[in-house]
Amino acid sequence: MTAGCDSYAWSELFDQIFSATPWPMLMLGEDGTVLGASDEGHKWLRPCNSWGDTPLRERAAHYVSVLRGSTSWLTPQEAESVRTLPSGASAHERIHVRRTAWGACLTIVDQTDVRRLQTMDIQSARLAALGFMVAGVCHEVTNPLTSLHSIVQILQSEKHVDKELLDKGLSNIAINVKRLLDVSRRLVKFSRVDDEPRVRFAVDDAIEEALSVLHQSGSLREVELSHKLDPTATVFGNTGQICEIFLNLFVNAVQAMGGKGRLNIATRSAGQMLEVLVSDTGPGVRADAIVRIFEPFFTTKAGTHGTGLGLAISTEIAHEHGGTLELRQTSPHGASFCVTLPKERL
Ligand code: ADP
Repeated sequence: MTAGCDSYAWSELFDQIFSATPWPMLMLGEDGTVLGASDEGHKWLRPCNSWGDTPLRERAAHYVSVLRGSTSWLTPQEAESVRTLPSGASAHERIHVRRTAWGACLTIVDQTDVRRLQTMDIQSARLAALGFMVAGVCHEVTNPLTSLHSIVQILQSEKHVDKELLDKGLSNIAINVKRLLDVSRRLVKFSRVDDEPRVRFAVDDAIEEALSVLHQSGSLREVELSHKLDPTATVFGNTGQICEIFLNLFVNAVQAMGGKGRLNIATRSAGQMLEVLVSDTGPGVRADAIVRIFEPFFTTKAGTHGTGLGLAISTEIAHEHGGTLELRQTSPHGASFCVTLPKERL
C-alpha cells in the first residue's frame, strides 16, 4: 500500500504493475483517499469483505492514529495495531512505514494467528511450570489442612469448649483458610493466560499503576518514594502482567522495610533492553534465603503474610516477555531487584 502520491499517472502505473499481485495492495493519497488497488485489494474496499472485516478505507484513520508523529506517513517506523473486528474478535497487525523516493510505503502484516499460537505456547509453558510446582502445591496445601484437621479434632473432643479455646481455634482456622485461599487464587490467576491484548505501552505507566494500588491501600504512608522516569521506555506486552511484577516487588520492599523507609525506582535504557531497578532500605534478603527466593512457595514471612509465589510468578512473566528478574544487590542496608524487558522497536 503506498501513500504520499497524488498524480493520476502514478495510479495508472500502480494499476498496471500491481493489479495482478496476489496480495491486497492499495495506493493511498496523503489524506487516505484510495488512488489504486490490486484485484485482491479491491476485495478489501468492499463494505463487507470475505474476512468479515471493516473496509480498508475506514481503517486508514485507525492505522494513522497508531503511527507516531504529526507527519506519521513520512517517518519510517514500525508499530503494533490491535483492532476489534465487527465480530468482536481482536485483529493484531504489525505496521511498517518505509520512505521511498516517491512517497511512503505502508505495509500491514496480519499477525492474529501468530499471536494466537504465541498465547497457546505461553499457556502450555505455564501449565508445565505449574506441573513442576505440583509437589510444592501439595506440600503447601497439606500443612494448613493438617492444622485445620487437628483444630477441628480438638474442638470436637472437648465436651464443653470454653470461650478461650473456641476463639483460639477459630482464629487458627481463619489463618489456615486464608492461606489456602491465597495460594489457590494466585495459582488460578497464574494458570490462565488472560486474553488482554499485548500492546505497546510506557513501562513507567505500569509502575505508576502498581504504585497507585499501594497508595490506595495506605501502605506507602510512611514510605519516601522516588521514581526516576524514562519517558522513552516503551515495551510490548500485557500491561496487567507487567504491572503485577512491579506490584510484587513493591509489596516485598514495603514489607521488608516494615512499612517505613525509602523506595527507589529507576527506569533506564541498557542497549536493546530496559532496566527497572527497585531498591529499598530494608534489612536486605536473609543470607540463608538468597539462593531460594525465586523458588515457588519459598517464603520467610510469618503467618499469612506470604505465599512464596510473588517472585516465582514475576520471573515467569518477565521470561514470557523476553526479559528477566534478578536480585541485583543485597546488604543489611537494603535490597535491589532488577527487571529487564526488551525495548519496543521504534
Ligand atoms: P512472599 O512475598 O510471599 O514471601 P516472594 O516470592 O515475593 O514471596 O518472596 C520470597 C522471599 O524473598 C520473601 O519471603 C523474602 O524472604 C525475600 N524477599 C523478597 N523481596 C525482598 C526484599 N525487598 N527484601 C528482603 N527480602 C525480600
